[in-house]
Amino acid sequence: MYDARRGQDRRLPHLLRGEGRAALGALAAGRALLAFDFDGTLAPLVDRHDRARLGARTRRLLATVARLYPCAVISGRARHDVARRLGRISLLALAGSHGAEMDDRAQRMPRSSVRSWSLRLRRHLRGLPGVGVEVKPHGVAVHYRRAEDKGAAELAILSIVTTLEDARLLHGSNVVEVVPIASPTKGDALAALRVRFEPRVTLYVGDDVTDEDAFRSRGPGGLLPVRVGRPRPTAALFRLDEQPEVDSLLFALIELARPDDRPPVHTDECREGATHEQPGD
Ligand SMILES: [Mg+2]
Repeated sequence: MYDARRGQDRRLPHLLRGEGRAALGALAAGRALLAFDFDGTLAPLVDRHDRARLGARTRRLLATVARLYPCAVISGRARHDVARRLGRISLLALAGSHGAEMDDRAQRMPRSSVRSWSLRLRRHLRGLPGVGVEVKPHGVAVHYRRAEDKGAAELAILSIVTTLEDARLLHGSNVVEVVPIASPTKGDALAALRVRFEPRVTLYVGDDVTDEDAFRSRGPGGLLPVRVGRPRPTAALFRLDEQPEVDSLLFALIELARPDDRPPVHTDECREGATHEQPGD
């Protein structure tokens, strides 16, 4: 039902107004699945990747939403990393490493190819200011958000990662990541969840290039793909303009839940248009 405008961007309708709000209402009225990216979506982007965290308000709202709807988080972070940042919120599913780690049984030690990539990357990028190498079980992420000259840092990183064998490149916001060529994508992870839970409509919210696979995910029921952030070409069909608006979305989802299901929430907690602190990026 939403396919007609796929591939266009710029003037995507806002999720919390007009037809976006109506689509959210339809989602809330049926069997829904909600899935969220973490960095830049649930949590503000920050200069130090290891310091990202859920805001207190987001945590409270997400905990309530997760009691009202089946909720999943699909993150590029290692699963144990994002699990620690989410804490005790009762999610239906948590996928790390862009979907390569769907549960606790997933391998936590880096694969051998990942270990050799990380050694090469560390050797070549040592001394490059503001550049950090993060080793995950299913890939290596090279962050350059803190680099003074981001263009130069990006070029230096690309000159190495493009020589790695059997690697697939994921280019996100101030991060270049390499994963094994056959690694699942966030789209694969979301498709698996849709098959498992057979929702009537699935909401997916993300902010980065790797979320585009999820925006195009296939599976049972409809898909409501929402991109957070500045306009750029996307397969999403609705937009939120900045990360703090995710709180407004969570609040709207609580308001739209069937009254019998809805726990009391402070009505001044978060309304669309409320003043929010700006994200760190
Ligand atoms: Mg993100």
